[in-house]
Amino acid sequence: MTDIDPAHLARLRLHLGRKGMEVNQKLTDVLAGMNATLATMKLPGEGKPGEKPHERLRRFLDQIVRAQRRLGTPAFGLCQDCGQPLPELALDEAPWTEQCRDCALREASR
Ligand SMILES: [Zn+2]
Repeated sequence: MTDIDPAHLARLRLHLGRKGMEVNQKLTDVLAGMNATLATMKLPGEGKPGEKPHERLRRFLDQIVRAQRRLGTPAFGLCQDCGQPLPELALDEAPWTEQCRDCALREASR
């Protein structure tokens, strides 16, 4: 996806930035031992077995940072596993998406 217009790019960048701050704040609360629940936050994918809340949040934060680095490069909007273009609607909702549905399902079934 190399042909994102500048306004769209700015929206995606803002979206990623806001989400990054939200997750970062949540992580801070969890690490401070505050009664922060992840239930109010929509996290991508499933938690891994035995994964602690702060580990899960950190994983999501890393994912957001990776998307921020990809944004504006040809790699943005492509499945990081198979290289297929991701649906634009999915990217607008979750610009940090890294996998197409097929690859996500394959990984989940492993
Ligand atoms: Zn894929």
